[in-house]
Amino acid sequence: MNSYEYLLQDINRIKGIGSKTTKLFKKKNINTIFDLLWSPPRSSMDRTNLVKISELQIGKIQTITVNVIKYNFPRIRNLPNRVFCEDDTGKIECIFFNSYEGYIKKILPIGSKVTISGKINYYKKKYQITNPNYISANKDSIKQIFSQYSLTAGLTEKKYNIIIKEVLKNIPDLDEWLSDGILKKFNYISWKNALLELHDPKNIKKKGNFLNRLIFDEIISTFLINSRVRKAIKKIKKVSKKFDDKEFDRIKNKVDFELTNDQNIALDEINKDLKSSQKMFRLLQGDVGSGKTIVALIASANVISSGFQVCLMAPTEILARQHYNLASKLFDKNVNIKILTSKTENAERSEILKNLNNNNINFIIGTHSLFQEKIKYNNLGLIIIDEQHKFGVKQRKKLSDKGGKNCDVLVMSATPIPRTMIMTVFGDMDTSIIKNKPKNRKEIKTYSKLETKSEEIIKFVKKQINHKNQVFWVCPLIEESKKIDHQSSVKRYESLKKIFKNKVGLIHGALEKDEKNNILLKFLNKKIDILVSTTVIEVGIDFPNANIIIIENANKFGLSQLHQLRGRVGRGDKESYCILMFRSNLSENAKKRINILKKTTDGFKISDEDMKLRGYGDLLGFKQSGLQSFRLADPVLNEDLFLLAEKEVKKIEQENQNLDKYMTLLKLYDRADILNDIV
Ligand code: ADP
Ligand code: MG
Repeated sequence: MNSYEYLLQDINRIKGIGSKTTKLFKKKNINTIFDLLWSPPRSSMDRTNLVKISELQIGKIQTITVNVIKYNFPRIRNLPNRVFCEDDTGKIECIFFNSYEGYIKKILPIGSKVTISGKINYYKKKYQITNPNYISANKDSIKQIFSQYSLTAGLTEKKYNIIIKEVLKNIPDLDEWLSDGILKKFNYISWKNALLELHDPKNIKKKGNFLNRLIFDEIISTFLINSRVRKAIKKIKKVSKKFDDKEFDRIKNKVDFELTNDQNIALDEINKDLKSSQKMFRLLQGDVGSGKTIVALIASANVISSGFQVCLMAPTEILARQHYNLASKLFDKNVNIKILTSKTENAERSEILKNLNNNNINFIIGTHSLFQEKIKYNNLGLIIIDEQHKFGVKQRKKLSDKGGKNCDVLVMSATPIPRTMIMTVFGDMDTSIIKNKPKNRKEIKTYSKLETKSEEIIKFVKKQINHKNQVFWVCPLIEESKKIDHQSSVKRYESLKKIFKNKVGLIHGALEKDEKNNILLKFLNKKIDILVSTTVIEVGIDFPNANIIIIENANKFGLSQLHQLRGRVGRGDKESYCILMFRSNLSENAKKRINILKKTTDGFKISDEDMKLRGYGDLLGFKQSGLQSFRLADPVLNEDLFLLAEKEVKKIEQENQNLDKYMTLLKLYDRADILNDIV
């Protein structure tokens, strides 16, 4: 066995761990020995101070050495077994619930001298220790500082410590993968020693070279893979696209606005990539409502005019349809555009597949099904993925491969994240950023209102509807014992219906897809005025006529989420409003969030603040999506280490180093398999 392979084994291979404990660990998502290493102790328990019984402090954890005098094993069920002990200053009882006599006799033989550690109680003028976990004839094995890990029912601190100790004892000495220059920054601490320090109870909550080194390892393993994917894609030579400004001018004349400076710059960058002989792999990042769609469509028109096909993939059906409608409006009549979703009828589907294969369709717009279907393109030149932040490096690479060597790739994302996060999540791509929103935007007026004032809100809504405006009314999901509850939205819907009759619609996660789409379309076509929903309002849909969003229980949402929700309005040229409803007794944190929202509509600023308040992991569910497999690194707190890793990877690539030295790192951190696809 290669030495690192010990760490990748199932935890049931650890000496002394049984199937019951294995199960408990797996419930905590600790599957391999390696996994076990990444939950450092949260606190420690000092059991080193040995006292006499006369010095015992009640309610505290104390360690004593005593003689075992006699047993009391009652024959009545539910009564505990007792063991009477003493030292030369006093007496104490050990009380055992649910322990076998045999076990007790073994660990506490009559006449023996043992060291015991546990919490001291005082009952009927007697000292007691109930179910002491730490008992040994060898006092040095008890007189220690013990690490306290996050436990779960059935997994004791003692057991956990025994297991961790066994694992730490067996961590192999691995060949160093970091360069000398980097190691020097961490005072030459080895990976193994860094881990030992991480678990040392003396270092609890401490920072230092040991932690920085481990964090750096995580970051550099991610960056190395990103960089290799990027390099592999850059190596692919493609037929460059040839086009002029004709399409651009035509489309520009069809829309009733000027492109912003940032849109023009992004478009220039994209065009340059399209015209080059290197494959494009680019992220177009821009806050909600910054106008990414038009940029993507102009790029598509260029690619089509140079004789290639384009495929645009949206996260939802309704968004796909919206893109389709816009493209149909803007594109030359000679361009054949089709939409393909899971709802497309079979006959039409096979017609579309046929026509994609014989190059009769120039532009296909759709959902996931575009990726999953066995579609054979005739001449695919560009894939665009809209708002699909759950796509990771592996999926993007696969998509790019599927498109073939002439196919450029553009990914659009509205998640305003700091550069360290972009480097992590999109580090395999070049990036264009639309920072400033179109000038015609009016600031969205953001208010907060107590729930008890809902009469006033209703009055306001009535007035707005009379002016032909539309309203989103968002109710949070209430999650109770895994059952997702949309009760609050149903209740609100019922009460609004009494006032606004059939002008109210309701969508929530439990509805069928078709039903959901129907209601959304009704709203889009202004058949209803108020759309009550849980947070399922789809990302990216453009409802220019909706200018009010009311968010109930606003304190239940994170900042970025509130920002995304608010971004549903303020897209047209009307005055827009966001009303945050809340109950009294807001936490300090919730007050802060609401104030930040009132102060700014800048998504980058908001995500920055959000990460300061909540940590990066929650940002739009990156953690849930499983993309973010950092266990220690934090893109906000460890910015310096991210930048250091970026520099180091650049150096590695400039010197054209092969990655042999890093293979153990990449394998341990589960980032190696993608390399097989590349080389
Ligand atoms: P997102 O970046 O969130 O995908 P969209 O592309 O949906 O944003 O654009 C939001 C709205 O802004 C659309 O109604 C679009 O027509 C409009 N828009 C786009 N660019 C401009 C611009 N330069 N000036 C004015 N409005 C614009
Ligand atoms: Mg969009």
